[in-house]
Amino acid sequence: MESNRNGITKPSKVAIVGGGLVGSLCACFLAKRGLNVELYEYRNDIRKTELVKGRSINLALSNRGRAALRAVGLESHMVREYGIPMAGRMIHKLNGNLQELLYDPRTNKNLYSVGRKYLNEVLLTAAEKYDNVKLFFNHKLINANLQDGKLVFRQMETDQTIELNFDLIIGADGAFSAIRKHMMKMPLFDFSQTYIEHGYMELCIPPDSEGKFQMESNYLHIWPRGEFMMIALPNQDHSWTVTMFMPFAKFAMLDTTEKLMDFFQKNFPDAIPLIGEDRIIKDFFNATALPLVSIKCKPYHVGNRAIIIGDAAHAMVPFYGQGMNAGMEDCLLLDQLLEEYNMNISKVLPEFTRRRHEDAHAICDLAMYNYIEMRDLVNRFTYIIRKKFDDFLFWAFPMYWVPLYNSVSFSTMRYSLCIKNRQWQDKVLKQTSIIVVLFALFFGFLYSILF
Ligand SMILES: Cc1cc2nc3c(=O)[nH]c(=O)nc-3n(C[C@H](O)[C@H](O)[C@H](O)COP(=O)(O)OP(=O)(O)OC[C@H]3O[C@@H](n4cnc5c(N)ncnc54)[C@H](O)[C@@H]3O)c2cc1C
Repeated sequence: MESNRNGITKPSKVAIVGGGLVGSLCACFLAKRGLNVELYEYRNDIRKTELVKGRSINLALSNRGRAALRAVGLESHMVREYGIPMAGRMIHKLNGNLQELLYDPRTNKNLYSVGRKYLNEVLLTAAEKYDNVKLFFNHKLINANLQDGKLVFRQMETDQTIELNFDLIIGADGAFSAIRKHMMKMPLFDFSQTYIEHGYMELCIPPDSEGKFQMESNYLHIWPRGEFMMIALPNQDHSWTVTMFMPFAKFAMLDTTEKLMDFFQKNFPDAIPLIGEDRIIKDFFNATALPLVSIKCKPYHVGNRAIIIGDAAHAMVPFYGQGMNAGMEDCLLLDQLLEEYNMNISKVLPEFTRRRHEDAHAICDLAMYNYIEMRDLVNRFTYIIRKKFDDFLFWAFPMYWVPLYNSVSFSTMRYSLCIKNRQWQDKVLKQTSIIVVLFALFFGFLYSILF
């Protein structure tokens, strides 16, 4: 650790554990600031491997992720050249009818469907371009002493154990973070994890015989069915990644071809010709439903030595499409704090916890809420009316009435403020409707007396 005249501690050697979307982006940010970064990733270099089975293939990139990518010069490529815009939800009704619900009819803002593997590759390549970044693949973190800055890795190919010391350790090693496990041994570390009773499974709608999309490509398609749902995001090769979200018990009940096809026939009849019967059967029985976990913890740092970001700090269920976006926003916040505190890591790390934990907990809660909205509420009349109302007020008063979804996905409003903003809107609408009802009763009464 370098100390200048003012006693400011600037880390000279930084380790990032985890080379996923957040770790590799963080390496770019720190390298830009001139820090020496070593990134350690458990897996092989994904640029040299086939698609990793079981990891969601495409992701919705929104405003927060875009802002972070912009800061390292990658937004334009990911959004304008590569990403597929999704202007809204396309609801598939049980009777086969489609209903379009635009995210932002006022300014036509889009989410962008991006391939996880491709984005990770772009980020790793961007990080590697900096002379002060070194990437180490096949290195699994197996032990750590965070207070002393010590990390122990196993080189997976040689089975060699490597012990190293760093000034700053950044844990970007995902929902089951090894760094966080070491933090949990420390006093005053709060931690909670919740598995939802629903799992997910990925299927695929291939391109048509001419290699084109089989559905309208600029939407996130949803088949909301109350207790469960299916969604589809477009891929660059004109296929669709279809994800079924369902209680594990329901997945388990579909244990024969007949039961599975009967289930599709009843619930997703219009998806059968799109995916193809043989493919539904093959993909469903070859896959396993995977669990979804939500993790909250605090603090995110240990002294002036270690910090966790991304899913390691706040894994969430995927229904707001914010996990990656929030992790990328972590990188942006960390970078802003390094600027604000002149790289003084003793100030930056506690400030990161202070500024971030409320927002991270808020987006974990919002993600849980959005599952109910996506699989059930979108089908309801009251939801449609409220959305139209919100869209109108947003159009009329764009500075004052930003609907919840827009504030989360198309702004950088703090997540905790997005919730408070929505609570305020609910209160205003409730009070307005009470006043309207009272006026109606009053004039009705007057009318009955006078006429
Ligand atoms: C079905 C599904 C759909 C999703 N859709 C979206 C979406 O549309 N939009 C969105 O924003 N988010 C989405 N997410 C969330 C998103 O995938 C995560 O938030 C994001 O991947 C988190 O990135 P990360 O880098 O923090 O963690 P990860 O992507 O999990 O990366 C962690 C890395 O650390 C490595 N690692 C782990 N342990 C060790 C160790 N001991 N030593 C060394 N390396 C280690 C791993 O190999 C991995 O490469 C979705 C998630 C799921 C499950």
